[in-house]
Amino acid sequence: MASKKFDSAFPTRAVHAGEARRHPFDSLTQPIAQTATYTFENTAELVAYMEGRIERDEYGRYGNPSVRAVEAKLAELEGVDDAVAFSSGMAAVTTAILALSKSGSHVVLFADCYRRTRQFVTGFLARFGVQHTLVPPGDLHALERAITEHTRLVVSEMPTNPYQTCLDLQQLAKICKGTRAKTMIDATFATPINLRPAEHGIDLVVHSATKYLAGHNDVLAGAVAGSSSLTSLVRDLRHVLGAVLDPHAAYLVQRGMKTLGLRVAQQNRTAQALAELLDQHAKVKQVWYPGLASHPNHEIACRLMSGFGGVVTFELAADLERTGGFVDALKIPRIGPSLGGVESLVEQPALMSYFELSTEEREAIGIKNSLVRYAVGVEDTNDILNDVQQALATL
Ligand code: PLP
Repeated sequence: MASKKFDSAFPTRAVHAGEARRHPFDSLTQPIAQTATYTFENTAELVAYMEGRIERDEYGRYGNPSVRAVEAKLAELEGVDDAVAFSSGMAAVTTAILALSKSGSHVVLFADCYRRTRQFVTGFLARFGVQHTLVPPGDLHALERAITEHTRLVVSEMPTNPYQTCLDLQQLAKICKGTRAKTMIDATFATPINLRPAEHGIDLVVHSATKYLAGHNDVLAGAVAGSSSLTSLVRDLRHVLGAVLDPHAAYLVQRGMKTLGLRVAQQNRTAQALAELLDQHAKVKQVWYPGLASHPNHEIACRLMSGFGGVVTFELAADLERTGGFVDALKIPRIGPSLGGVESLVEQPALMSYFELSTEEREAIGIKNSLVRYAVGVEDTNDILNDVQQALATL
């Protein structure tokens, strides 16, 4: 039975959207269709399928009901026609970029995009004749100047990592409208609870579902959402490249998404309180959180977002070692990459993603030794604040 289209609030959609009202075996939950292939009753059914007279599955790389439930839920959350799920966020990003580019075309990236996305475009795609331009974070004038007749894609995150730059997506869409460039926003940090880029005219939305969508730090997944004319290109290429989401992983993502509204509301609340605490603290030099009036893009964030997310970035009045001491003194968050799950995670970017660079190289790209990224989980807000206060007291 087809699912009902939901025009309810986003947390309600996160629970129900994209799912059939009745599942096989009268199961309340979406069963895991753990199969690599699908069989035909007889040749007549096969021929009817091949002629497009019946809709059904044929082979696991081309589709799976458990995966489609995730795709349908995300499409309804983003308010778009369709979504395509992948085995990781990077599989989603790379397949979507490949689907929209060819030799001789040109891609524009904002310089603060996820470093593996940047590496894919500037290193890998360049080998196949795809040109690129990197523009400074958030600089829409530079973007406008960078677009040529060959530009087919403009890629950014919103908010970006670690400084949480928020782009004026309406302005971005306006700039690209008169050109042949499609816009793609990696909204991993925002989630569709806080931001729905398609509402602001963006063509494709990408997620590392590993983060908030799945939300439990236990599965890798990704997705691309947008109009069916674009997602069909992405889906066709997924059929060839093969980075499909496994049905078990799809179940975990789908189950995680049911609590997306609750989790993100709590993470928004805690991160805002944490950002405000840090902003007032003598041992903290600067805080980057879109919900703070001091953030350079606060006005844009207030206009486009309904919450500011669960990541707080801050610079301590300390050196590399003492910043590490602060991180070690924290009792709640675990040290690790990633974000968006139920467990809080903390990292010192200089010692994590940028470890191989010298202090000077890091400074040149704006990564200070004393920078900390705190990705709040769903632990009690006061516990997190008290823990941060006691760790700051050790500095
Ligand atoms: N996009 C963003 C903004 C990310 O932070 C990440 C991973 O950290 C990715 C994409 C890649 O996602 P995954 O790790 O699921 O491949």
